[in-house]
Amino acid sequence: MSELSVMAVARGLEAAGISFERNAKLARFTTIGLGGPAEVLARPRSTEEIQTVVELAKAHEVPLRVLGAGSNLLVNDAGVAGVVLHTGALAHVRIDEENGIVDAGAGCHFPSLVKKTAGCGLRGLEGGVGIPGSLGGVVTMNAGAYQFSIGPLVESVEAVSADSGVMTLTRPSIDFRYRKSSFGSDLIVASVRLLLQPDSATAVRADLDAHMHTRKTTQPVGVKSAGCIFKNPEGDSAGRLIDAAGLKGLTVGGARISDVHANFIVHDGATTTAEVAALIDRVRESVATTTQVELETEVMTWN
Ligand SMILES: Cc1cc2nc3c(=O)[nH]c(=O)nc-3n(C[C@H](O)[C@H](O)[C@H](O)COP(=O)(O)OP(=O)(O)OC[C@H]3O[C@@H](n4cnc5c(N)ncnc54)[C@H](O)[C@@H]3O)c2cc1C
Repeated sequence: MSELSVMAVARGLEAAGISFERNAKLARFTTIGLGGPAEVLARPRSTEEIQTVVELAKAHEVPLRVLGAGSNLLVNDAGVAGVVLHTGALAHVRIDEENGIVDAGAGCHFPSLVKKTAGCGLRGLEGGVGIPGSLGGVVTMNAGAYQFSIGPLVESVEAVSADSGVMTLTRPSIDFRYRKSSFGSDLIVASVRLLLQPDSATAVRADLDAHMHTRKTTQPVGVKSAGCIFKNPEGDSAGRLIDAAGLKGLTVGGARISDVHANFIVHDGATTTAEVAALIDRVRESVATTTQVELETEVMTWN
């Protein structure tokens, strides 16, 4: 890929009236606050604009990545080549309270949606309180916590692919697995229809508060992180294994294994993605040696 191809994409975005930025520092868009620049950061406002971005990247053979709220991402310090499609401007929400139907854009802020639906007396999302993603990212990662996961609540998804254009997938045709789904940079979530259960707003709110209390007492809150670094192995918890290996508080440079929850890496601003990645490797090796379990990363890495 040449600089000329990237410039051609930028010209195409300009001609189509799609908002974009050159050399956008991605640290601004990740919850861990790390990561170098994207050559082009495009911000489509509609499904049609997503399609235009995808077509431009394909036509000029430029790599394309999708960025939601950046809460499950580690971006290389040197940044990434090509186009990053940021879904932040796709934030519409429509709620049919009577029938429990929620239609929302991929960039919709998930924590706000959880509160809003609970306030409308709709049950379903309260177990996901505190997951700081975009709706598109939550669906793509099939995010979940305790008994909650988003997959069973998804009725349909409007998605865009470079090969097939815009399509609507209904739940039976979507592959939801532990922390992954059919979606990603090759099949981009544009908007989602959720089906929730009408209930008493007071009861839903009480459950939401209880889930939030559990989260606040078991996870680091108010510090920069990318959430859980490793997936839980079958029948066990990655945090327990890391703790059992005596790794709480382990550091590489400014990156540290949280004392509150061993599956979180936290920092106070003075670190790099390279240090976080080195700490991840140290943990994986140490846990494999002491427990014979190979941990698999949950956090996505962009190199
Ligand atoms: C403090 C904290 C707590 C967390 N707690 C939980 C938890 O309890 N449970 C849990 O499951 N996760 C948790 N996470 C991780 C994270 O919030 C989820 O994985 C969330 O689903 C990521 O959404 P996002 O929009 O931030 O995605 P991003 O981090 O922006 O992207 C994640 C991946 O999804 C892809 N992607 C994003 N949007 C789209 C789209 N529209 N179409 C196609 N691909 C897309 C990206 O390319 C990337 O590969 C936590 C994170 C933090 C920081």
